[in-house]
Amino acid sequence: MSQDLEPIVRIRELKRDRVNFVLENVDLAFANSFRRVMMADIPTVAIDIVEVETNTSVLPDEFIAHRLGMVPLNSHNCDEGMRYTRDCTCLGWCQFCAVELSLDVACNESVTMDVTSAHLDLIGPRPGGQNWNDEADGGDELGKRDANFGLPVGKDDPTAPPILICKLRKGQAIKLRCIAKKGIAKEHAKWSPCSAVAFEYDPHNKLRHTTYWYETNARAEWPLSENAKEEEEPRDDEPYDYNAKANRFYLDVETDGSLGPQEVVMKGLQELQTKLANLILGLKPEPEIDALQGGGLSVNQQGPNGAGGLGAIPPAQTHSAAAGWSQSGGWGGSPAAPGGASAWGGAASPRAAGWGATPAQSWSSPAGGSGGASGGGATGWGGSPAAGGGAGAWGAGSGSGSGPASGWGSPSPAQMNGWNT
Ligand SMILES: [Zn+2]
Repeated sequence: MSQDLEPIVRIRELKRDRVNFVLENVDLAFANSFRRVMMADIPTVAIDIVEVETNTSVLPDEFIAHRLGMVPLNSHNCDEGMRYTRDCTCLGWCQFCAVELSLDVACNESVTMDVTSAHLDLIGPRPGGQNWNDEADGGDELGKRDANFGLPVGKDDPTAPPILICKLRKGQAIKLRCIAKKGIAKEHAKWSPCSAVAFEYDPHNKLRHTTYWYETNARAEWPLSENAKEEEEPRDDEPYDYNAKANRFYLDVETDGSLGPQEVVMKGLQELQTKLANLILGLKPEPEIDALQGGGLSVNQQGPNGAGGLGAIPPAQTHSAAAGWSQSGGWGGSPAAPGGASAWGGAASPRAAGWGATPAQSWSSPAGGSGGASGGGATGWGGSPAAGGGAGAWGAGSGSGSGPASGWGSPSPAQMNGWNT
């Protein structure tokens, strides 16, 4: 039903720092991934290193450093206009991967002075100066930045009150240098472009994803949100539809000003698309390794602890040890047989392993091109146990060694261990 329809985005409100919209015809997993990507995976610039020269204020250096880190800096087009330091050709930091700011304030009056983000100045790196990178072919990152890139949000804007960093009294001073770098909020929240992302679906709770705690009357004690007006109210005698799925999502994305709301939404979609594309690419079989190992998926990645990969696994010999998707233990697997297999969510028997929990196996161990699983047992992603003859994998299993006969969901008819059996 909903899969056949194109996703719809309806913007209800757009302001300088927030956008409120309704997303329809996508599933819950997508909408939630989108929300999380917007909050945690979009790069911005934030102060990462603070070198304190003078600090005679009442706050300790690290206190001030932390506050400086949280100051939102203008990061428009940061993903193209800046490099991560780890990807840069410089040794420490340079104009391609960092912005240098200074804070130099002294209080000479007898009234308390507020030190704010408006006192932060952009000072480098300057051409020819310290930390200037004379990269031969030079990147075009600098050309993709705004004039105020790296400056605190709202600096020189009389309508935006600056952010208080600390206070000084007469005779106190602060002098320091900040190095701001590109990063994402998955590493530290200071890199999040969002101050809040509101997310709601099914305001009438028809799907019963929420259980309300209440004193006497749930309806009276839990007033409906504004979004409830968008959906039909359920009748009291309406039977519960256990096939119903969430289809309409209400989002409100509020940014801290480092990026605009439109940029956050568009970059969020782009980022999510990239992540999914990488996953699909990673799951593609590699023909040459296929031929070598007798089929199956080969991804050059190890599971945690190196215990499993999406391995090319020969077909299982015994049913009990087989871990196919839908057989004895798969994703969220069933307990299966005693010596049995499990995978991802599985693990019922002591010998069974979940995600890479079997230290014993390396992911390439099962190879065995002819398709005969050896006694050592095989491990797939989140692998099967070391039980005799076991083999397990995601969609694994070639035919009788007749070549690269399998991959995701393409087990040969000869054996029944593939994930779509
Ligand atoms: Zn650099």
